[in-house]
Amino acid sequence: MPELTPFLTKDDIDKKVAEIARKISSDYQGRELVLIGILKGAFIFMSDLVRHLTVPVQVDFIRAASYGSETSSSGTITITKEIETDVKNKHVLIIEDIIDTGLTIGYLIDHLKSFGPKSVRVCALLDKKERRSTNVSVDYVCYTVENGFLVGYGLDYAENYRNLPGIYHLKL
Ligand code: 5GP
Ligand code: MG
Ligand code: MG
Repeated sequence: MPELTPFLTKDDIDKKVAEIARKISSDYQGRELVLIGILKGAFIFMSDLVRHLTVPVQVDFIRAASYGSETSSSGTITITKEIETDVKNKHVLIIEDIIDTGLTIGYLIDHLKSFGPKSVRVCALLDKKERRSTNVSVDYVCYTVENGFLVGYGLDYAENYRNLPGIYHLKL
């Protein structure tokens, strides 16, 4: 049986999400924002984040499949659900649960830029900074984390544990 060790409580996360939302609201004051959530992992983070934003926002989702193992991505990425919003000349903020090698987010940044938005930035709940193998800039990060596999608050292992309110280390 996989073993779960508590890492971040729901209370910790709530405070941090509110804080990052204040920063985003202040940076985008007077502008309109399109948030693009990366399915499925970002669904809970995005739903909490949007309710703290004080600028006008539209929301949409994209889904990317990366063929790899359960615990790491391969870098071969395909889009399995496309955005439905016209983001041309709009400010786009991509919402991701966790950035590891950066391959997924790097691919999605380039993909979304191809629609001609005014800007594209990235907001991630978790950033495994030391594992980065590509040169992507993450504009808003809630937590920089070490190696190890995390689940809960939207993050899965084999589609399980997304419903846990807090975040846990999973020992396989
Ligand atoms: P990257 O392309 O940056 O290597 O991988 C990013 C994706 O891998 C994330 O969106 C997530 O789906 C998955 N991933 C990377 N690290 C973790 C982790 O610690 N826990 C979970 N649940 N998924 C992870
Ligand atoms: Mg993800
Ligand atoms: Mg996953």
